[in-house]
Amino acid sequence: MATIAVLGAGYAGLRTVKRLIHDKVDAHIVLINKNPYHYESTQLHEIVAGSKEPSDITFDIRSAVSDKVEVIIDSVTSIDREHRRVMLAASKPVEYDYLVNALGFESESFGIKGVTENTLSFSDVDSAVAAHEHIERTLARYGTSHDENDLRIIVCGAGFTGVELLGELITMIPEWTSRYSLPQDGITLYCVEGGKKLLPMLPEHLSAWAVDYLTEHGVQLHTGTVITEVRPGVVVSADQEFHANTIIWTTGVRGSRVIGDSGYSQKRNRVVVQGDLSVKDHPEEFLIGDVSAVPDPSSGRMYPTTAQIAIAQADTAAANIAALLRGRATTPFAFTSVGTVCSLGPHAGVASIDMVGHWHLKGRKVGIVKKLVNDRSVLELSHVREMLASN
Ligand code: NAD
Repeated sequence: MATIAVLGAGYAGLRTVKRLIHDKVDAHIVLINKNPYHYESTQLHEIVAGSKEPSDITFDIRSAVSDKVEVIIDSVTSIDREHRRVMLAASKPVEYDYLVNALGFESESFGIKGVTENTLSFSDVDSAVAAHEHIERTLARYGTSHDENDLRIIVCGAGFTGVELLGELITMIPEWTSRYSLPQDGITLYCVEGGKKLLPMLPEHLSAWAVDYLTEHGVQLHTGTVITEVRPGVVVSADQEFHANTIIWTTGVRGSRVIGDSGYSQKRNRVVVQGDLSVKDHPEEFLIGDVSAVPDPSSGRMYPTTAQIAIAQADTAAANIAALLRGRATTPFAFTSVGTVCSLGPHAGVASIDMVGHWHLKGRKVGIVKKLVNDRSVLELSHVREMLASN
């Protein structure tokens, strides 16, 4: 019987396993993941802010997948592609006939001096908890330090991650002010963004609404300000310095380092895949989610790395492996976005939705949409458990 190794139990990996089981593939399925739990990566910013606990966004993998799936909890160190083996940190290698690599993302520093040493980033539960604990510790210290920088938080980058984090941090300020007996309006949030405009992928009036919302809630937005260096407590651009004892880095993501360590032709640990999501000259390997770069035939550019696309890729990869096992041809990946939701805390946000018409939403309505669906990505308009259950 063929073995299918699925690497990573994020949205893409879990969805692949679910589809393979649903399609009744005649194969042994092995799911390999570093932690025994799945976490909802689209909600990590809420852990950083402290509005959610890790237990709110994690669940046990074994209880989520069929008993027919072999689950190995270990770290993938590399892939021996020539011998079709997955190398693991603590267990023996896993041999495969088909591979689905869904190992996800890491924070991208772009090699900017001082970023790794002097900023907090979050790409998993542990790093999000560490960032949260740093914020609490630093605010608490103000009582004895009286250092204004203990009350300043800088978010570097205003992509979706940075903006959603700022929205969440805003909602926590009253609670922190009271808990640590801080001066009213003492906590200041800064955002330093290289681009001239926030959320350029959204219609103008929605991005303008988000900017107004952030500034009305006290966020000091510095757009058109490219960060060139970070020193301890200082974010540096060409002509300005910003001081704070909490600096959070959200300027983008790269794929898992396993890609770089496994001999792929890659850029930022992302591999340009074939139309059917397999890797050139390796029809048995499928790369999906943040480790893949998928050309969008309509624009000629790569699709963005969203959870929505990762889930759609999982369906295609699983269907294509099922086809190969049955001696049939694979089919190309096709994707139609159903829109984007950018939350600004639990009760506000902006959304552009292309489902049953075109919808542009802003304000509390988005909070309600988000509350109902408990996720930001419209395709998964459902909590991950429902996403995994849907056909
Ligand atoms: P991103 O690449 O989308 O945004 C990073 C931002 O940082 C950009 O605005 C960029 O101009 C800025 N930046 C980069 N280098 C800089 C520098 N040196 N100085 C100042 N600013 C700099 O990254 P992200 O926000 O982490 O998102 C990663 C992926 O995940 C994206 O594809 C995004 O669409 C997706 N995502 C989607 C959602 C959602 O749908 N709501 C939420 C979070 C992330």
